[in-house]
Amino acid sequence: MSDILISEVGPRDGLQSIDRIMPLDAKKRWIAAEAAAGVKEIEVGSFVPPKLLPQMADTAELVAFAKGIAGLNVVTLVPNAKGAEFAAQAGVDGMSIPFSMSETHSIKNVRKDHKAMLAEITASAKIAREHGVHFAVGLSTAFGCTMEGAVAEDQVVRLAVQAAEAGAQEFSLSDTTGYADPAQVRRLTRKVKAAVGDDMLTTLHLHNTRGLGLANVVAGLEEGITTFDASLGGLGGCPFAPGASGNLVTEDLVLMLNCMGLNTGIDLDALLNVRSILEEALPGEPIYGFTPDAGPMLDYAERAERAVRSAT
Ligand code: ZN
Repeated sequence: MSDILISEVGPRDGLQSIDRIMPLDAKKRWIAAEAAAGVKEIEVGSFVPPKLLPQMADTAELVAFAKGIAGLNVVTLVPNAKGAEFAAQAGVDGMSIPFSMSETHSIKNVRKDHKAMLAEITASAKIAREHGVHFAVGLSTAFGCTMEGAVAEDQVVRLAVQAAEAGAQEFSLSDTTGYADPAQVRRLTRKVKAAVGDDMLTTLHLHNTRGLGLANVVAGLEEGITTFDASLGGLGGCPFAPGASGNLVTEDLVLMLNCMGLNTGIDLDALLNVRSILEEALPGEPIYGFTPDAGPMLDYAERAERAVRSAT
């Protein structure tokens, strides 16, 4: 059993943010190699219309492939009830629907206001329930919006309660824009948990746009968060500035958690080797990570072991 679940979102969040299409075979090798390194949950794709996101057109095939890997939790993103139906038919273990806390962002992104999105959540939750699929809602732009700026915390809390009433079984607080800071993570996590119940909020989806990703993870840990999304090589997550990564880098997150004595069940060396699949399949695509560049500390293995011993 691992203390902390790392949910790899690269095959979805990463690949949907880049124009190039990774061949199906490379995606399969990526998923298999991460699972072999000890990753227990992977968001393998998104059930969006292929004409909108051709990068995700092979999601059903990837679900079928990933379902064949023992012990792997296979999840996908769904934008609406139609996507939820596709995901359920494909046989996913879990689905997640993004619900933008900024109404401007929601309208611009999926052409739906909050009321229309809550209707989609209700319909999607029903489909998930009928198929015995775990149903999560991603509270996106929860920490700020590139169009609206600050998003009121009371609004996030109110919308989370409404989404719970609409059938959400779990929430992810998502820093879609890389705006979050540790004090805000602490505050918002507390407020949302207080409103929806302690075990309904377990996940943080953090970006590293401004270098605050790992600091935000520590803030989340201190508030009892046990699942973190991350992307191999920090792929995706709409980086806004050249040289800045988008998503939190899985390799850096694993290094930190393992050193803190929090068991992730992930073998860091094996994980670092998976990067070569990305490098081969997407030549020239920027991939990030401090740990891959610097290498783990010389005493990394000892350190991780010592941390586990002193924590127990
Ligand atoms: Zn992201």
